[in-house]
Amino acid sequence: MTNQDRVFNFSAGPSMLPLSVIEDAAANLANYEGCGQSVMEMSHRSKEFEKIIEDAEANLRELMNIPDNYKVLFLQGGGTLQFAMVPLNLLRNSKKADYVVTGSWAKKAWQEACKYGDIRVIASSEEDTFTYIPKFGKEDIRPDADYVYVCYNNTIYGTHYNEIPDTGDIPLVADMSSCILSEEIDVSRFGLIFAGAQKNVGPAGMTIVIIREDLLGFAGEKVPTYLNYKTHADKGSMYNTPPCFAIYIAGQVFKLILETGGVAAMHRQDVEKAEKLYAYIDSSSLYKCPVAKEDRSLMNVVFVTGDTELDKKFVAEAKAEGMVNLNGHRTVGGMRASIYNAMPMEGVDKLIEFMKKFEAENK
Ligand SMILES: *Cc1c(COP(=O)(O)O)cnc(C)c1O
Repeated sequence: MTNQDRVFNFSAGPSMLPLSVIEDAAANLANYEGCGQSVMEMSHRSKEFEKIIEDAEANLRELMNIPDNYKVLFLQGGGTLQFAMVPLNLLRNSKKADYVVTGSWAKKAWQEACKYGDIRVIASSEEDTFTYIPKFGKEDIRPDADYVYVCYNNTIYGTHYNEIPDTGDIPLVADMSSCILSEEIDVSRFGLIFAGAQKNVGPAGMTIVIIREDLLGFAGEKVPTYLNYKTHADKGSMYNTPPCFAIYIAGQVFKLILETGGVAAMHRQDVEKAEKLYAYIDSSSLYKCPVAKEDRSLMNVVFVTGDTELDKKFVAEAKAEGMVNLNGHRTVGGMRASIYNAMPMEGVDKLIEFMKKFEAENK
């Protein structure tokens, strides 16, 4: 199979995976590396699976240069469960936390946290439909806050932090669901990073949590055992049956990125793809990107024609040409091209060609 036989899936998630990973998984599906069974069937306590999960963690550590005083957890419940797990575990002293609201996911996280403590919004771009990343400084953070929360890449609105916010000694928590492994990140600047897998990593069902060890062990007595990070950290993400197949595929993606130049190489490709697409949008008279230039996401490129009917026509005609899921999120409309790590340059080139043709036909 080649990419020509497949559609280019511009969905925000679940999204494309590298074809080589899918084909390798297919070749090993019924009989994983000659062990006589598939990864879906094998015991999570088997030596085969132990190697799969250990390699996945080691490779992720190498890719992200994760310091030794951080635990890497492979959990379930998507990015969404982290909206509760973060406050349940990290509201450990003052029970205060400061949130930055930059879109629907950040807002959901903030609303969830409000159930558990004294939660304040210290910056928001909601009044401007989340088209930029609001600035905040150390002076905006309560000095006794237990943590500060940001959504690092805003999947729906196409914005991204291009600088790590400075929160001093207060742990910074970041939702990196839609940008993990697309750029080199200094993990030591964060208290906790999490990411649902189905955007830039692997299939749905697995969530990566990277947590500084000194933040473990503060969950209250009433916190369900399963929602305590320490439960999972103590058992190497094997407190109960983990999402074995999702971890296996994610591990294959980590391996592939390592073999092809690591996160730095990935980032160069991502920049090249995004710059090409934004440059075309900015030069066009039909399409407009509403996002502030300095805050644009490399992963989710949002654009509109300004005419709802024309937007719909665009999405339908693109689909007919094998470019699917270009509609914007149902809450914002317009278009969104999610061009994660696994979207090949040829997908972006084909999209730009189509956009030019559509523009010429719909002047
Ligand atoms: C998709 C997404 C989520 C929610 O992920 P689920 O795995 O569906 O729960 C959370 N945060 C961000 C930034 C996302 O893009």
